[in-house]
Amino acid sequence: MIGLYVHVPFCVKKCRYCDFPSYSGVESYIDAYVDAVCREISLFPRGEQADTVYFGGGTPSLLRAGQIGSIMKCIEAHFDIAADAEITVEANPDSVSCQYVRELAALGINRMSLGIQSFDDGMLRFLGRVHTADEGKRAVQAVWDGGVRNISIDLMYGLPGQTEEMVRADMEVLASLPVCHASIYSLIVEEHTPLWDDLRKGRCLLPNDEEIEQMGQAVHRAMHRLGFSHYEISSYAKDGCLSRHNCKYWQYEPYVGFGPSAHSFYHDERWANIANIPLYIRKAGREDAAAERVVIDRNRAVEDYCFLALRMRKGIDYADFRQRFGCSVEDEFADVLHRLLAQKMLEATPAGCRMTALGRDYGNYVFSQFIRE
Ligand code: SF4
Repeated sequence: MIGLYVHVPFCVKKCRYCDFPSYSGVESYIDAYVDAVCREISLFPRGEQADTVYFGGGTPSLLRAGQIGSIMKCIEAHFDIAADAEITVEANPDSVSCQYVRELAALGINRMSLGIQSFDDGMLRFLGRVHTADEGKRAVQAVWDGGVRNISIDLMYGLPGQTEEMVRADMEVLASLPVCHASIYSLIVEEHTPLWDDLRKGRCLLPNDEEIEQMGQAVHRAMHRLGFSHYEISSYAKDGCLSRHNCKYWQYEPYVGFGPSAHSFYHDERWANIANIPLYIRKAGREDAAAERVVIDRNRAVEDYCFLALRMRKGIDYADFRQRFGCSVEDEFADVLHRLLAQKMLEATPAGCRMTALGRDYGNYVFSQFIRE
């Protein structure tokens, strides 16, 4: 079954570290955007079975529940949605209330992912977030009280001015909240963001590598103690609440994205929609609404499969690889496997192999070994 993604490119204000395709001050496009997404959905080949739907952003919670409902209606009319489908809406704390969550739950939304990022007001201000730490906590409770119990939060570490103690304090707040999933990222400084500019001009300083490493360790220890399994590089889940939608990306399953800059992987093709909102609104559903389109040949497919699978704790499943590609991982990557096993960056599992803790520390190096010229 495929996964469906809807990109909602609107934000109240651009955060200082963000280079995601999201825009502020363009809310006047929202109605036309909803119509365009519905048009794009209706022009996709009908009848595919899907078991995940994910509204990501941007800030999907800037859409009224009725607007999310209109898109869900198109999706349900067009796709065969599994009875137990995971249907996620990303939300920011400033745009979530118990009533809003009740309205979403009535539409079938059964999972919410909250962009909290930090429980420290100073860090939130520094990052340019529009909510406070208290609003973050209240938002999680509002989601729970509104009847959605599968709750994920996003947090970050490695921030300028942050200490390991502050990271531990964030973990303590997390422990007090009813969340069963967390995505916890080390800050990546993207070029040409205001944060990048400040760092370049020496207006603030990142923690050094050792400090960031210690913050990461503090996160791992706390999440382990709280009973979360570390199932993907930045993802933790308890009670089996893995993100089924995100697992599709890592397990080489097909997905189709709708909305400006949404990405798709379907029938051996990857494509991304144009990011410009008015242009997307004009072209949605047409062939030229794709900004780029790449056919994935077998060579690229085996590479993608391996490095995506290695993001997950369970790693590469040799039997699954053979079933998909008709050959063994050894046939394709014998040298790479032997080298990474010898370097103790990979370890054998009953089903195949996975990254070790050392491998995770050098993740980009490990992934790059599976990319052939
Ligand atoms: S809310 Fe999220 S998508 Fe919007 S600007 Fe901030 S980080 Fe970017």
